[in-house]
Amino acid sequence: MISLTRMLLVALLLASPAKLPAADSPSWFTRSLVGLEVGPTGAQFGGDPADVGYAAKFDGREIARATKACGGEYLVIWARDGDWAYYDSKLQPKCPGLGTRDVLREAVEEGHKLGLPVIAYCVQQYAGDTLRKNPDWRIVGSDSKPIDGRVCFRSGYREYMKQMLGEQLAYGIDGFHLDMVDQGFGPPYGCWCETCQKEYQAQYGRPMPKGVTWDEDWDHMLEFRYASSDRFEKEMTACIRQGNPRTTIDFNYHGNPPFSWEVGQLPVRHAQNGDFVTGETGVWGFSALTVGLNGEFYRAATPGKPVQVAMQRGVRMYHDQTTRPLNDMRWEMFNLLAHGSFVTMIDKTGFDGWLDPVAYERFGALFREVHAKRAHFGQSPVQDVGIYYSSRTRDWIGREKPADWLLSFQGAHKAMVYEHIPWGVIHEESLSPETLMKFPVVLLPNVDILSEAEVALLRRYVESGGSLIATGLSGAYDHMGRLQTKSSIEALTGARLVRKLDSTDNWVRFPTSQTSTLSSQLAPAGRTDWPFLVRGPAAVFEPTTATPIGDLLKPHRTALHAQKRYNEDWPLSADSRVGPAILLNKVGKGKVLTIAASPDWATASDHHIVEARRLLANAVHLLNPSTRVRITAPATVETIVTDDPATRTLRIHLLGYNAPPQTTPSKERPYVLPGLIEDAPLYRATLELSSGLKSAKAFNRTTELRKRGGRLAMTIEDIHEVIELRY
Ligand SMILES: [Zn+2]
Repeated sequence: MISLTRMLLVALLLASPAKLPAADSPSWFTRSLVGLEVGPTGAQFGGDPADVGYAAKFDGREIARATKACGGEYLVIWARDGDWAYYDSKLQPKCPGLGTRDVLREAVEEGHKLGLPVIAYCVQQYAGDTLRKNPDWRIVGSDSKPIDGRVCFRSGYREYMKQMLGEQLAYGIDGFHLDMVDQGFGPPYGCWCETCQKEYQAQYGRPMPKGVTWDEDWDHMLEFRYASSDRFEKEMTACIRQGNPRTTIDFNYHGNPPFSWEVGQLPVRHAQNGDFVTGETGVWGFSALTVGLNGEFYRAATPGKPVQVAMQRGVRMYHDQTTRPLNDMRWEMFNLLAHGSFVTMIDKTGFDGWLDPVAYERFGALFREVHAKRAHFGQSPVQDVGIYYSSRTRDWIGREKPADWLLSFQGAHKAMVYEHIPWGVIHEESLSPETLMKFPVVLLPNVDILSEAEVALLRRYVESGGSLIATGLSGAYDHMGRLQTKSSIEALTGARLVRKLDSTDNWVRFPTSQTSTLSSQLAPAGRTDWPFLVRGPAAVFEPTTATPIGDLLKPHRTALHAQKRYNEDWPLSADSRVGPAILLNKVGKGKVLTIAASPDWATASDHHIVEARRLLANAVHLLNPSTRVRITAPATVETIVTDDPATRTLRIHLLGYNAPPQTTPSKERPYVLPGLIEDAPLYRATLELSSGLKSAKAFNRTTELRKRGGRLAMTIEDIHEVIELRY
């Protein structure tokens, strides 16, 4: 029982919002690398009181002991999902299978005995039971119809949630994981409820737009929606701070690709709420490459703070009761740790709450390895290329098909990973001279919208010696996503925008007749007179002060194209030259390299060829010839470089991805998921330091190292290896 005095105290505190500082002693999340999140399976589509067997064995004490036994450093335990509470709540019915038991109390009591911080998992958005009882709190579409299953974050739900957080706080939990503050992942969009309409009118002095209009009113509406989620998160944070300033708070975040404006989050703004950001990853839903990308995306959004990433044990989806091979989990776990995140493994129990013994054996092996490698995580990243993420371009170019723009960002990332060029993320929202100067090269992957302030910062960066790469239509659009006659970065690129090509099956060629040192450095494998497909947006430029290199070729067009009878998803061959492929311009002490085509978009597209990716890598090498570490390894190996200046140690993490081929799927052929990693790969790699390699040491005894001067050749047989280089 929660004492009446305690309940009154919490209620009193909740009634008078005021910010208190978070506890200043090191908290659990600053010292942890791995933990478990455990919740039951069977109520993810709603619950029925007749299912009394559901969660009957879901036992907080057993779960705390299992977490401790496998080496977890904290436990996130389910306290509330859409239909059920797993504790004695006055606000939401407790899951009937629990009887008189209270899982949150069990987990906190047992966890604290074992020295394990216990975090309450509490759902926000998918409040099925609460919305059935309070239908007025649902999001309303532009057609005035409520949208079932989605909650309006400006409604009375805010006060209700504060009471619920108060109930859980009273258990003495160490933190909250609040999942999720989104406004839906696609149409229909909200919210046109009475409260939202009134608040919008008061703020902007005019009524809401009638729907998704992509005009000035919609610009306000986007901001209004962002503010709805932001204010909700800030209110929940303040409420928890007042209840107990030592209780941590984190929100499950959706500011990263593939998510866009529809969820109601901006990459930086919504990562700031709470003590640290938490994101989900997983090959099953977001691709293998997105595992590392998410880690860096979150890190760039919250500099200086820890980043939590959640992965899962299931093969396909959280609740499917399958268990991945250990090597498959190792690849994801060590990828995230190498990118500086700490990791929560999500386990969903059987229907009755049963814990799968094989899953816990594998967690044990996995977590033991994490502890053994503990000293190798948390150093500063070494990153040559900053990949620029523009949420304004996401919103106003991506609009209702954001994947088309995201391909440029994701393709730039894919190219850097495959080419072993160390990379990081730069967010437009928090752009500063210091952020830019951290990177020898800044890459604008079709950043179509650039404000005057951004251009001024980019100019300052280049003038003081930075190198900028702009692909495709970077700078070609205005604030509202309209094509301009003059590019916003014309003074930087030294080239006039003549026209945008209507095609995406565009071609690049480096003619032998123009052979120069520059063109042979840029041509993939030095190959001249060979047109290669660079799928994606492209533009014709006319140099003013820039040096033109190579050719951009338009594709052939048939009579069928004119009649709209040709499937334009399929590229056609190269036709004639329309402009230069590359323009290289000197600005102050720095350089700007414009690629008239989009090798980034091409690399993420269905028509990725190696040469398109090499073009981008060659552009980076041309601008940044004296990189600190040059890495050669198979494209299946992801490399992450960190530095510890105090001990003069560079660390190179190598992650070998080794999935076997898959057969055709039961639907949506040929879009297969990658196979599960069963075996450790065996491969060779080399490292070359620009100066000062003193010694090298591998973590694994099976790794063979051969050092010759500043060059190190390695033979590795494992999923994860970390090489320490003293300099
Ligand atoms: Zn509303």
